[in-house]
Amino acid sequence: MVVHDSLLARLHDKTLVVEAAKVGTRWVYNATDGQRFDVHNPSTGVILASLPALSAGDARKAIADAKKAQLSWVKKTGKDRAAHLMRWHRLWIDNADDLATILTAEQGKPFTEARGEILYGAAYLEWFAEEAKRIYGDVIPAHVENARILVLKQAIGVVAAITPWNFPNAMIARKVAPALAVGCAMVAKPAAETPLSTLALAVLADRAGIPDGLFSVITARSGAEFGREVTSNPDVSKITFTGSTEVGRILMRQGAEQIKKLGLELGGNAPFIVFDDADLDSAVEGAILAKFRNAGQTCVCANRIYVQSSIHDAFVAKFVTRVRNLKVGDGFEPDTVIGPLINRSSVAKVQDHIEDAIKQGAVLLTGGSPDGGTHFVEPTVIIGACASMKVATEETFGPLAPIFRFDDVDEVIELANSSEFGLSGYFYAKDMARIFKVAEALEVGIVGVNTGLISTEVAPFGGVKQSGLGREGSRYGADDYLEIKYICLGGQSA
Ligand code: NAP
Repeated sequence: MVVHDSLLARLHDKTLVVEAAKVGTRWVYNATDGQRFDVHNPSTGVILASLPALSAGDARKAIADAKKAQLSWVKKTGKDRAAHLMRWHRLWIDNADDLATILTAEQGKPFTEARGEILYGAAYLEWFAEEAKRIYGDVIPAHVENARILVLKQAIGVVAAITPWNFPNAMIARKVAPALAVGCAMVAKPAAETPLSTLALAVLADRAGIPDGLFSVITARSGAEFGREVTSNPDVSKITFTGSTEVGRILMRQGAEQIKKLGLELGGNAPFIVFDDADLDSAVEGAILAKFRNAGQTCVCANRIYVQSSIHDAFVAKFVTRVRNLKVGDGFEPDTVIGPLINRSSVAKVQDHIEDAIKQGAVLLTGGSPDGGTHFVEPTVIIGACASMKVATEETFGPLAPIFRFDDVDEVIELANSSEFGLSGYFYAKDMARIFKVAEALEVGIVGVNTGLISTEVAPFGGVKQSGLGREGSRYGADDYLEIKYICLGGQSA
């Protein structure tokens, strides 16, 4: 297979698309059994490229190379590691248009949104390059007169990363940046739908002089075999996973035998609450952003929109007007706001949620039209949503906005928290006492107050309840890749 012309023709640097995997110190073009899998453009259905379908043996080789590379990498100074990461960051920025083109081609999101993701991903590299020099330990006043107590923070070792298809650049960026900054090595497996973006980063890592073996990208048709290898391989010290709660549970079970350290960024079911004192226009804009970014395929997407009764009709009227103007189309068309969903089963899930809600009495105000066999789904708004509907309990992961009506603050807090997920939550209000009450009461890791955009490299990202373990980004994000060691120095003078 040769990379499809529709992708190559758009690239300034065609060498950024590779039909190979980075296994430790080598680029591997063919699997030993010759198996391959295709990467599709979800807008057009064309096959963009074909990649070797690697096996557990290849992952094992990458882990062994990573172990060797990590031993030297961790000895470098923070300043030296930072310089490597900043070279990579520079190339990431310089090639932003091409990286965004690859991302739109394999994932479908609008090009401007894809470019935003590339810059967002690069920001993690810059942030953690800066942090590499500041991995401070501690000195603790000792418990006896002739002792001294030191606390060291040490790189955990070889980290395996498994990432989803919805943010093929940013999800790997949030992991590889802190891991390499503190002195770890990483073996990554991107989702089978969107591996080209991660492979392009590996090409740039080579150009930046990131030492061989430190960042592997294993291409595989399915994640299960890789998951079994990394949960059972004693040379993997930690697994960092972003994806569904279901797969997170599998990794936890598999990792139990070796008490594998886990970082889990899992599913969400975000409430988005509009109180009667909110600025309605900005609440509508916030809801559009929080609901429809990436066609509703983000873990922090507003999944349930609760609007207070007295402003319900006014909010709905403005919101529906805005939604009707969101253009659906190929991500390379300049005015597209909503691209395709990633695959047919995602389309089927959204349709199932719409049908289930309507069967239970919800009213369709816009969208919901049949998609004619493509991956495109019209942005859809329904009102009259209630707790027994699938839209209330499951992550829709598509452009469906269900609106629930509520009367008072305590009622909506209870409704918002009635989910096993706890990643993000949003609300619009002006009253300060109400803002603190609701922000503190929401059982989530991230709260957006009067904003629909919450992700940034400078703040800790992660969930509570069944949305995961650990945090990515900010000064807390390095901790996931560090172990704390305490040294008790006896025999000192009193
Ligand atoms: P997914 O089905 O869980 O897949 C995620 C990754 O796990 C893919 O690379 C997949 O590989 C791999 N995988 C699948 N089965 C596996 C197994 N048994 N063992 C090891 N790896 C396995 O999730 P998705 O559909 O790609 O992504 C959507 C989900 O991710 C949503 O629930 C979303 O909320 C969540 N998400 C969370 C965050 C966050 O930060 N909390 C961010 C983004 C997305 P293959 O696909 O190649 O099999």
